[in-house]
Amino acid sequence: MIKALTLLVSMLSVAASAQDRFANVQIKTTPLNGSAFMLVGAGGNIGVSAGDDGILIVDDQFEPLAEKIAAALKDINKSPVKYVVNTHYHGDHTGGNAWFKENQDATIFAHDNVRVRMTLGQDAKPTSFPVVTYDQGLKFHFNGDTIHLKHLNKGHTDGDSVVFFEEANVLHAGDLYFNGFFPFIDLSSGGDVHGFIDSIEQMLAMIDNNTQIIPGHGELATKADLKEYLNMLYVTRDAVARMKFNGMTLEQAIEEGLDDKWEPWGNFFIKEDRWIRTLYLGL
Ligand SMILES: [Zn+2]
Repeated sequence: MIKALTLLVSMLSVAASAQDRFANVQIKTTPLNGSAFMLVGAGGNIGVSAGDDGILIVDDQFEPLAEKIAAALKDINKSPVKYVVNTHYHGDHTGGNAWFKENQDATIFAHDNVRVRMTLGQDAKPTSFPVVTYDQGLKFHFNGDTIHLKHLNKGHTDGDSVVFFEEANVLHAGDLYFNGFFPFIDLSSGGDVHGFIDSIEQMLAMIDNNTQIIPGHGELATKADLKEYLNMLYVTRDAVARMKFNGMTLEQAIEEGLDDKWEPWGNFFIKEDRWIRTLYLGL
């Protein structure tokens, strides 16, 4: 019986992952300050500016969710999406690009390296590529707000941008910020441990205690939450640096582990062993 059940469950989950991985995902909208909103579904969190000038979105999750995202946006504002900004090239942040380009004629913006990495992707659709790219950043004057796109050098990848809605006082941090969890630093895509921490310090200098922070993953956050995350980065980095300096191999460092108090931070995508590995290899 248990075997049959296990088989059934595994057959169901195979079917689900192939066909309907996103079937039960619902897009939840949270109004933020000013003309800003946050959308949560599956994949990276979405930031929105919606108003008289139309809609700008920051990241667009996975392609199978694009129609649901469009429907959620329509409940906010009837206009099509005019601009899409990608915080970096990963597929859980750029998957809807082609849909919004093909169906709503959106123009896609991102750092130069996002386009480079996307064009190298094996089955990438040209309609998913950023059309406007930049080196340092740019500003949108949109819906009565000034929306700053700022490239931060080598953190999560080599093409990261954070997006600051000046009037609304909302920051989209992209995957530089996993709220409450160990982050993913994509060392094979130009990510860098030192640059990552430096990027968090730069973000903290851009915001105040009233800023609403949309993390790449996790719940809406405050400056205090981001400071706590930076503290976690400092302390765990130093712990792994000490182990490496003392001659431990990577395996020994993983075996030794981090202080128990960091355990809850390993409950999402990056478990403690992978976080130690990233720090060890990246320092
Ligand atoms: Zn990412």
